[in-house]
Amino acid sequence: MLTNTGTLLISRRKYKSGEEMFYRTGKFFILILLLVIFPIIWGVPDLPAAEKKPLVVIDPAHGGQDSGVKIDDKTGEKDITLAIALLLQKELAKNGNWEIMLTRDSDKTISLEDRRKIISQGKPDLLLSLHVNGGFSKGASGFEIYYPGFLNLADQKKQVKSGVKETRDKYLKDSRKIAQLVQKNLDTLFPRKGRGLREAETPVLEGMDIPAVVVEIGFVTNPEERKKLLSPAGQTEIAKALARSIKSFF
Ligand SMILES: [Zn+2]
Repeated sequence: MLTNTGTLLISRRKYKSGEEMFYRTGKFFILILLLVIFPIIWGVPDLPAAEKKPLVVIDPAHGGQDSGVKIDDKTGEKDITLAIALLLQKELAKNGNWEIMLTRDSDKTISLEDRRKIISQGKPDLLLSLHVNGGFSKGASGFEIYYPGFLNLADQKKQVKSGVKETRDKYLKDSRKIAQLVQKNLDTLFPRKGRGLREAETPVLEGMDIPAVVVEIGFVTNPEERKKLLSPAGQTEIAKALARSIKSFF
């Protein structure tokens, strides 16, 4: 009897504690569920934004077989654009706020399709394509800035739906913004040398909804600008001016 009662008590206690366990784990489960589901529904502000840094793609135009504007037997536009791109990368890396990608970091040939592929795969938040100008006379000088503009979109209007339109307007506005910033910063470096902002659809950007700017930094055919474009000090100054523009953009 004692044994029986004892067993009975134990089993009832077991049952009771099992019930308690059920409620406790049940409550615990609901608590976990709330902790997991609330942030999913309402979102955790700042967390994803803090994790993802904006990607800046720097595109040193030409390369390898394609030397661009020829300067002498050994040097071409491709060498200047690469040197400035590498200096710009270094300048931007000092402040860890961005991911930086180059379409090329050495003297190699890249086809237009490959260049476009590299750019679009990265889905950049900003693209800077770097060129150097050459003119027929020594007199031609100054920098030119091209950006995708509203002017060239008249024939695309039919395809544009709302939503797509907002995205498009945003990247066009951003492109103009970076173009203006580059203009301002290069103007300090090459005073009164700006040849103006130009809205244009350039082959490397065609069809891409990326805030972008194409910079023709100066004329290698102009003796004064050639000095700046070829000297490490001049290249550093240019890279710093471009870095300042990118910093102001974000
Ligand atoms: Zn070029």
